[in-house]
Amino acid sequence: MTEQPAAAIPPAPPADPNPECPRCGKPPALCVCEGIVRIDNKVSLLILQHPQEQDRELGTARLTVLHFTNAIIKVGLSWPSLAKILGHPTDPQRWAILYLGSVKAAALLPDRDIVVVNKNGNAVDHQEQALREIEGIILLDGTWSQAKALWWRNAWMLKCKRVVLGPERPSRYGRLRREPRSDGLSTIEAAAMLLARLEHKPEIETALHASFDRLLARYRETHAVSRARRPRRYNRA
Ligand SMILES: [Zn+2]
Repeated sequence: MTEQPAAAIPPAPPADPNPECPRCGKPPALCVCEGIVRIDNKVSLLILQHPQEQDRELGTARLTVLHFTNAIIKVGLSWPSLAKILGHPTDPQRWAILYLGSVKAAALLPDRDIVVVNKNGNAVDHQEQALREIEGIILLDGTWSQAKALWWRNAWMLKCKRVVLGPERPSRYGRLRREPRSDGLSTIEAAAMLLARLEHKPEIETALHASFDRLLARYRETHAVSRARRPRRYNRA
């Protein structure tokens, strides 16, 4: 330990330069935790987040998990099995992972917004039955390359079902963020779509979209304020 020279006036305790909400991990200006509607979900949700995913402001993984009574987020690169993550035995074939490939739902089955695909990226037969078998959903959270790294490091994912999404409208992120996946959705939007459809509860989508809209509104507000404070010389308009 280094002895600090005694100062005449003791310095004030330093303010936390990075305060964040303990639940959602966001700066207070962007926290929408107090308005969260909790959902008692039957289809489980597991979000695996790459350790370098650092979108503290616009990331939605933690916010998504806070919505559900049956949801887990794990941060890491690899896990030996799905059972190890969950802490109990499970059949990986009853879990579906949101597939990263370039397959588009509309190109496979245009009348469906969730399509179960096989290892070759083709729609499986008996879609309804395949969807009914799903007990849990796995979402990979990170950039395109981070999500791909998670996919390649976890061989057990090959045993899971694969689903692709064909959302009717583009992501609510709009121009705020360039999304790498072909369906272009944020983690919260993908979870909303999957769980609402699988549980036949449109209110799940309504609740999650409401939170996401509030987050985006806060984000736009905060950034409009910081833009307004910027000196004129930075204004290129
Ligand atoms: Zn919060």
